[in-house]
Amino acid sequence: MKQADIVVVGGSAAGITAAITARRHHPEKTILLIRKEKQVLIPCGIPYIFGTVGTPENNLIPDGVLQANNIELIVDEAKELNPAEKTVFLTSGESIIYDKLVLATGSYSLVPPIPGINKRNVYPIKKDVQHLKNLLDALNDVKDVVILGCGFIGVEFADECKKNRDINVTIVEMLNQCLQIAFGEEACKCCQEVEDYLADKGIHVITGSSLVEVLGDDKITAVKLSSGQEVKADLLIIGIGVKPNVVLAENAGLTVGKGGIIVDATMRTSDPNIFACGDCTSKFSFFTGQPSGLRLASIATTEARIAGANLYEISRKNPGVVGVFSTALGNLTVAMAGMSAKGAKECGFDVITGYAEAPDRHPGGMPGMSKIWVRLVFNKANGELVGGAVRGGPSVGELVNTISACIQNRMRASDIATFQIGTHPAVTASPIAYQLVNAAEMALKNMTFKSK
Ligand SMILES: Cc1cc2nc3c(=O)[nH]c(=O)nc-3n(C[C@H](O)[C@H](O)[C@H](O)COP(=O)(O)OP(=O)(O)OC[C@H]3O[C@@H](n4cnc5c(N)ncnc54)[C@H](O)[C@@H]3O)c2cc1C
Repeated sequence: MKQADIVVVGGSAAGITAAITARRHHPEKTILLIRKEKQVLIPCGIPYIFGTVGTPENNLIPDGVLQANNIELIVDEAKELNPAEKTVFLTSGESIIYDKLVLATGSYSLVPPIPGINKRNVYPIKKDVQHLKNLLDALNDVKDVVILGCGFIGVEFADECKKNRDINVTIVEMLNQCLQIAFGEEACKCCQEVEDYLADKGIHVITGSSLVEVLGDDKITAVKLSSGQEVKADLLIIGIGVKPNVVLAENAGLTVGKGGIIVDATMRTSDPNIFACGDCTSKFSFFTGQPSGLRLASIATTEARIAGANLYEISRKNPGVVGVFSTALGNLTVAMAGMSAKGAKECGFDVITGYAEAPDRHPGGMPGMSKIWVRLVFNKANGELVGGAVRGGPSVGELVNTISACIQNRMRASDIATFQIGTHPAVTASPIAYQLVNAAEMALKNMTFKSK
């Protein structure tokens, strides 16, 4: 029987981050990480296996990060947990005694329970090297690919699958627009530009229709949609979301809800010596405190940094999910943090928006320039920023993170309008035209609540 002060189950975004954080906060402890797969994929890089990076092997998290932090790795499956005896039992027959345990068991991809879904060449997106190798091989031998789900994973898959392959790609989405869940509203400019980009690449998007049946004998030949339309398909990729993996926790008698393992704001489960983080845990909204269905690596790692630090003494609290997305297709990047105006109104907020558009270099003729469009959403009652959408080139990825920091720190329009920024012609917008500041300034024009 082995023993370690801290045991982490799960070796992806949340598990690795929790173990590294535990090491930083508890340098004297022994830390052991158990994960069931030999090689761990960078989950967010999975779509790029099918185009830009080329193979699953080019998209792995190196184990060196564990060695560098003096974290012992066991490749095995935790099949049972006994909280009373503080013991984890592994499939190999080994058992491990812990003082503190972190569950980071992640999620499974959702598969719709429709007729024909088990036919050959139907691929849910699994975080599994062999499964993705099989998909990569299968893609070399098909003509008509259908992707179910037009969220950011669906659009990234479509764009990557189309690269260097002479195939027809169709995305089927039950909502009325691409990325509508991420951006929270219909007729959204960011979503429209993504649809235009996909159309330009020859990717066909069918919105407002759901998949009702997979047709064919042993192997898929077509899909049937709720509209009655049939779309030819010799391969189907399913990217419609995930469900939390709670088996270990549930069987051990920990409290589990519909959204995952129940944790408090310190990431502690119903057992005081067991913490949980990442896709396997329940989440709540930063804005309303209501349950949140969002599952992102950025959320998983934030939770892991809270759990890893809190194991022996509570020092961090989870403020809830802000929700920050970005995706890039060619030269177009779109991103969103927090709530859309529509989403905020649905949650009972009265909102004021402000927008600004300007080049992200100055003068605009500087190399690498792209025009950045920013729309900020403020709570009218107190002037606090509650959301922001951004569109443009690569600088959008970090700008949306700045917006998230402003949201999390409850900054008001007046704070953002006088935000101290650093600018340089080769890397940022001009200080006069700085989009974030000017969007806040535009919102302030219509706001009665101006400062603290
Ligand atoms: C295609 C795709 C693209 C994505 N892109 C983005 C993106 O751009 N940005 C973003 O923020 N998020 C993205 N996500 C979401 C992100 O991947 C997840 O939120 C993230 O992987 C969650 O990390 P996790 O560690 O909680 O869970 P997981 O990644 O699911 O990992 C769970 C780990 O636990 C292990 N495990 C489970 N049970 C056991 C057991 N009993 N014993 C031992 N080991 C076990 C698994 O083997 C695995 O190592 C994407 C997801 C997908 C599928």
